[in-house]
Amino acid sequence: MGIEAALPVDGFVTTQLRRVINFARRNSLWPMPFATACCGIELMATACSRYDLARFGAEVMRFSPRQCDLLIVAGRVSIKTMPVLQRIYQQMTEPKWVISMGACASTGGVFDTYAVVQGCDQFIPVDVYVPGCPPRPEQLIEGVMAIQRHIDREGMPPPGGKRMPLGIAIQPTHAPRPQPVGLTLGN
Ligand code: SF4
Repeated sequence: MGIEAALPVDGFVTTQLRRVINFARRNSLWPMPFATACCGIELMATACSRYDLARFGAEVMRFSPRQCDLLIVAGRVSIKTMPVLQRIYQQMTEPKWVISMGACASTGGVFDTYAVVQGCDQFIPVDVYVPGCPPRPEQLIEGVMAIQRHIDREGMPPPGGKRMPLGIAIQPTHAPRPQPVGLTLGN
């Protein structure tokens, strides 16, 4: 698991409770997939063996919002579907995060019509925007890692879990990197 390498030879580790808790939180994100169109196929590919979302502890897709803390909106959202998406978001437990995956979820994409929501952030708070049509699995993983980095840095969740949306945009030119989140053991 990599912990052995971080342990000093005498076997003692000192750290802060906040870091241990955030270490556990960031490595146990449970996604709620809201896949309405072709981006959903890339979302499925991200969980498959080639990209293996399980490496980041985020492979446990749940279809009950009460068990999820990471909503992934993958695909266009119609006006008729938006109340369902809002209901799912409201039913998820705090603290929770939202990834808008692909051009359609973030802007409506090529579907500039009266029937398609021109960006799901008009109705629910979005933390990470993943660009592309569709984004590659590496880009979605980069979005998940952006949330992991945030969890790692932040303090304990505020009472009630309320926080502002992060508004992070993954750049389409990003280079895939190994998981940049260290173990944060020690001071
Ligand atoms: S962004 Fe592209 S791939 Fe994703 S749902 Fe829209 S049209 Fe399909």
